[in-house]
Amino acid sequence: MKFDFDADAGLKKIYGTYTGQLNQWVEGGEPPKLAMQEIRCAMEQQREHWKRSGLQVHQKIKGIKGASREVPAVSYQDRMFVNHIVGSEKMITTTIWDSGGEIYRWTGEAGLSVVIQELKKNTQPPQDMALSCPHCGAPATLAQLENGCPFCDTHFVMEELYPKVTNQFTTRKHSQDVKQDLWLLPLFLAVMIGLAFTVMPEAFRSRGLPDAYSRVMGVPASLIAGLILWGVCKALGIFKMAKDLRGSGKLIRSLQFRHQIKKLDPEFSTEYFRDRAMNLFRMMAYSEDPGVYTACECRRPDSWENVLDASLYNFGVDKYRINGNECSVSITLYLDALIYKQGKVKYKGKKVRMTLRKIITEPTNLGFSVKAVSCPSCAGSFDAEKVKCCPYCGKEYDLVQHDWVVTEIR
Ligand SMILES: [Zn+2]
Ligand SMILES: [Zn+2]
Repeated sequence: MKFDFDADAGLKKIYGTYTGQLNQWVEGGEPPKLAMQEIRCAMEQQREHWKRSGLQVHQKIKGIKGASREVPAVSYQDRMFVNHIVGSEKMITTTIWDSGGEIYRWTGEAGLSVVIQELKKNTQPPQDMALSCPHCGAPATLAQLENGCPFCDTHFVMEELYPKVTNQFTTRKHSQDVKQDLWLLPLFLAVMIGLAFTVMPEAFRSRGLPDAYSRVMGVPASLIAGLILWGVCKALGIFKMAKDLRGSGKLIRSLQFRHQIKKLDPEFSTEYFRDRAMNLFRMMAYSEDPGVYTACECRRPDSWENVLDASLYNFGVDKYRINGNECSVSITLYLDALIYKQGKVKYKGKKVRMTLRKIITEPTNLGFSVKAVSCPSCAGSFDAEKVKCCPYCGKEYDLVQHDWVVTEIR
């Protein structure tokens, strides 16, 4: 491996190339070549999903001048890979049309971060490691791709197979978006009504004013107090904080889960699990019929069909059950999503709850991709996303033994 991991400049370059590919994709080109096969497929599904909804979606990502806007890269690693989260502030314009014309337009600053997966220095992955061909998407092995893809005959060197982008996050800067604060309105009303009937009239009475007058004056006084409180919360950024804290209440349960599952699978990584859960969401939300996927063992809720685009903000574990080597875990994904409903598009927070199951017989297969698995009986590689049996030897490939599958959505 010739990659120099110190080279922040190298990561920035990959990031820059990726955002360029992202722009080309939205303009009608192919999905980013740097993205792993699962993400590329989900993007194609997403575009089909927009078409089926009768919409045209366009997104332009532009850089913002000024070096201070670079978000520092965070890294985590396992036996084989180093994963970097690299991001920066971008100026994004999203425009959506239906048959009647433009129905949505937003321009603003947003953080665009990607997970870049690189092979560790001095790590040579096994030659029989299953990998998707970056050119035609066909499932193959590392050795096959180096010697020429069996389907399209493209030859690859390691530097073309890695690094790869394994997830992507977009977080809009919270602007003066009043709608986000509206969920707190009932709380403020309750406080104001409470004040109007208790503290406020009492305050007037204690100053020796007549009872009837105190009661009446308590109402506008409470209203003013409420508005001042609202203003203070707004100025201190309390609303933004409340939104930013989404999901953090589940941290302890998530850590317990991680601790327990690591006893069974020392290679378990919260980040891979998070990326997989998000990919499963994308598959189910954007596909015409999620029933075709081997990883989907339940029905998709109707409301998911309204999601045009979603980015993960946080996730947390609600509950989990480990029974022998069978693990079942219920999680909540906190998403920032573009929702299409009754001819209108809105950007808002969306909570998604799903239960995932996996049978842990061996440690996580690092670099696993459902788009290229290797058959345990004959070692042939194939795409297990929709196929339940190995096309070479016919033996059933039981995905739940190798990866997480969705068993329930609430
Ligand atoms: Zn190929
Ligand atoms: Zn086989």
